[in-house]
Amino acid sequence: MNKQDFPLFSKYPSLIYLDNAATTQKPAVMINALEEFYTSKNANVHRGIYELSELASAEYEQARNIVAKFINASAQNIVFTSGTTMGLNLLAKYLIEPTLKAGDLLVISILEHHSNILPWQEIAQNKGANLKYIELKDNELDYESLGDLLKTNKVKVISLTMMSNVTGLKSDLMRVKDLIRQYSPNTLLIADAAQYIAHEKLDVTNSGADIIVFSAHKLYGPMGLGVIWIEPKLAKKMAPLFKGGGMISKVEKFTATWAQSPERFEAGTPPVAAASAFISSIEYINSIGLDTIKAKEAELANMLYQGIKELNNYRLLVSDYNSSKYGPVIAFTHNSIHSHDLAQLLSYENIAMRSGHHCAQPLHDYLGVLSSVRASIGMYNTIEDIERTLEVLKNIRI
Ligand code: PMP
Repeated sequence: MNKQDFPLFSKYPSLIYLDNAATTQKPAVMINALEEFYTSKNANVHRGIYELSELASAEYEQARNIVAKFINASAQNIVFTSGTTMGLNLLAKYLIEPTLKAGDLLVISILEHHSNILPWQEIAQNKGANLKYIELKDNELDYESLGDLLKTNKVKVISLTMMSNVTGLKSDLMRVKDLIRQYSPNTLLIADAAQYIAHEKLDVTNSGADIIVFSAHKLYGPMGLGVIWIEPKLAKKMAPLFKGGGMISKVEKFTATWAQSPERFEAGTPPVAAASAFISSIEYINSIGLDTIKAKEAELANMLYQGIKELNNYRLLVSDYNSSKYGPVIAFTHNSIHSHDLAQLLSYENIAMRSGHHCAQPLHDYLGVLSSVRASIGMYNTIEDIERTLEVLKNIRI
């Protein structure tokens, strides 16, 4: 997990990149694999019986196998999309909305990214359903109030982030699953693993979720590729999301029947090159080990949090950071400098951090701030990165 493995850092040797929650930098092995696909494997999948097409198809299915193994799933339950946003929109629109009734409840949390808010807002409005937010209690999600909502027996779906992209707070989905089992067994649990996937081992067999979505680009992979994992029994009975080539069993003039999962959910030309390159990202991560990555990132996040805590003029959005409850994301504000100005000042020092509401406006409203600056740590960040960041933050004057 050396910066030398990531060509962008050779181009910008003094860059301190702390915007990993937005997207991660790419290892050379992934970039090379992308080029390799287009120079020596490029053909469309599933439609040709000539050698190149077979090669591309095999490569694409190998990507599915590798992703499946990474999250302890089976390949037929891995559906490739263009990203988390696409996945959540598809699920809301094509899985949930058709059977949503007036008075049903859709439950999300106050931590959510706009991608896990807006699709639910829209379908709730379309169908006269009600969107409910779980808030925080004692620095975690208020699971008790979630239990109360489930007791109404009206909750159609709960869709939760596994790790906030602003505060890093993790959700206890097994606890949510227990509540579902106890009070409302038909409620579906969707997990947004966009952040979690890069920092901790995700095992679908003990995640608690029925459906999990994430994006490859936040996991050191290419942009334009996402994953939906669908629980096997659910995948069998789930209707297709999009209609088009590659997802049918038979098409007649006025009717059609669908292929099995995962083809059923992948109409059209899939992101084959990206999937092929993603194999190399995952192999690279596996060669280091997510546990090693997690331990290193936790150390850096703690160091940054404690360092900022000691500085005057800064307010951290989280009051008791510890790495068992939070991922390596530290958000803060300055008492008298606007977040955008602060990010600009950091940028003058070659420190890349995001400022604003990070597509989580309801969370910022809830925390009583308009915006924040966010340091999100990735596997290649170093102690020197954090020391330098703290030094710069300390010396910022208005
Ligand atoms: N959910 C969360 C928690 C995120 O952090 C993000 C990206 N910032 C998304 C969803 C959307 O991901 P993408 O832009 O890759 O679709």
